[in-house]
Amino acid sequence: MELIDNHTHLQDEPFRGKEEFYIDRAKQLGVTKMICAGQDPDFNKRAIDLSQRFDNVYAMVGYCPDVAKDYNQQAEDLLIEQLQVPGVVAMGEIGLDYYWDESPRDVQKRVLARQIEVAHELHLPVDIHTRDAFSDCYEILQSSNLEYGAILHSFNGDVSWLQKFMKLNVCFSYSGVVSFTKATEVHESARQTPLDRLLIETDAPFLTPKPYRGRQNEPGNVYYVAQAIAELKNIPIEEVAAATYANTVRVYGLN
Ligand SMILES: [Zn+2]
Repeated sequence: MELIDNHTHLQDEPFRGKEEFYIDRAKQLGVTKMICAGQDPDFNKRAIDLSQRFDNVYAMVGYCPDVAKDYNQQAEDLLIEQLQVPGVVAMGEIGLDYYWDESPRDVQKRVLARQIEVAHELHLPVDIHTRDAFSDCYEILQSSNLEYGAILHSFNGDVSWLQKFMKLNVCFSYSGVVSFTKATEVHESARQTPLDRLLIETDAPFLTPKPYRGRQNEPGNVYYVAQAIAELKNIPIEEVAAATYANTVRVYGLN
């Protein structure tokens, strides 16, 4: 059984200088590949560095909502260059965050739509972060060209949002939240997500799944996300692994 963590932040501080240790520990749990999500110039660069150091680590780069206010032509030129580096497989994470509101909302929306366009020009998928912003996010995604796919990262919408987004060319990536006892709406969404639209992630170092809630998260823990989904869907974990592995390879075009 092999698993892929399709959204992790191995470039984040808690892992620095110990990347090999965490990659090895992930392997012991069957997690053989991971995609390191960028979010700002520093994280983007660090993600690319890791993808060049390790065969089984891929990168994505983008301007997340917090730094959308810094997006300009120069930023875009650099992103376009970085997106063509081997091992960089998507634009991400990009999106809308109306909880933190670090950039004005109209700026967040414009920069999200623009980055989706840039990714499309380069034939790449986009990895989407949405917090308290499903309705605007839906509007932007449905008016964008998603020919190369989109991933809703750490999807926590209820079944009505699942059904709406299902009409678009998107996959639903579940994080440790799906293992939380009280996340009943997310449980129902996971149950109803078709296997061919399902992805799994850790978003490490955040969102640690059961049974390790409260500790720092790490890529290997995507195993427990797969386990939680297998229990919810009442199918063997091997089936969740096979489907999510194939979907991740297909959507991100991994080699
Ligand atoms: Zn993230």
